[in-house]
Order: sequence, then structure tokens, then C-alpha cells
Amino acid sequence: MKQCTSCGAINSDHRSVCVDCGKRLGKPLSEEQANAVEEHLRKNTEKLYQGEDPLHIGLLDKIVGGLCILGLFLGLCLWLLGFVKEDGVGTAIGGLLAFFFGALESLAPELMWELEEMRLELFVHDATPCGMSFIFRRVAQVLTFLIGVVAFLIALFG
Ligand SMILES: [Zn+2]
Repeated sequence: MKQCTSCGAINSDHRSVCVDCGKRLGKPLSEEQANAVEEHLRKNTEKLYQGEDPLHIGLLDKIVGGLCILGLFLGLCLWLLGFVKEDGVGTAIGGLLAFFFGALESLAPELMWELEEMRLELFVHDATPCGMSFIFRRVAQVLTFLIGVVAFLIALFG
């Protein structure tokens, strides 16, 4: 890897002039320097992809989170009032758990990310939430809410 001294562009070893500005290139970087440059580039790329903070709590999060909390309370009330059928107890518990996790995922994304980070620690270090975790979070929120609703419909009427 060669780095242009006049514009900073990264060039491959076999180039003699800079791909960006056309200036003559010097000697290739040492392995240590090359690693530092790569690390820097990787971080910049990651930042680009993050765009919006994936852990930001937006309007949709508040709506879904609110619905999940509502479902949690409504479900608990219906259960305590004896509306859950005898063979629907397991399903009702599943529904409550789904609402609970939906609410956490929506309103406490940093907590959920910390859990995810603990899991990721097994494979990678200093992980940061990326664009994909933004989408996963959205999907998880809506899915857990829907699962909660369906579970309760089954527990009450199934
Ligand atoms: Zn250059």
C-alpha cells in the first residue's frame, strides 16, 4: 500500500503515480502504517453506513413501544380477570413476553444493544450498531408486537 504525500489517496504498491492527483508516489507504507490506514478507512466507512443512529428512539419506536406496553397491561388484566382459556395460559405467557421484548426493543434500544454486544463479543470486539441492526430492530419491534397480539387472540378465543 502506498499513500500519496500530496493528496493522501491510497494507492496499490504497483502504482508509481497517484491515482487521484498524478503526483509521484514514494515507497510503500510499512505493515504497521498500512494497518493504521486501513483501520482508519474502515471506521470512516462504518460511520458512513451508520448514517442515522440505529439506537435513536423515533416516533415509530414510541408508537410500537406504547402499543407493546398497552398490550402487556391489557393482556395481564384480561388474564387476571379470567378471560384466558385454561389451555391458553402458555400462549398468553408467550404473548406477554413478546410484548415485553417489543417494548424493550422499542424504548430501551441501548439496553438491547448491550445484550447484543455481549453476544457479539464472542466473535468480534468493539462492535458498533450498523445499518443492518437498524433494520433488524424495526423488524423485531413489529414482529414481537404482532406475535403478542396473535398469541393473545389465540389465548382468548382459540
Ligand atoms: Zn495524490
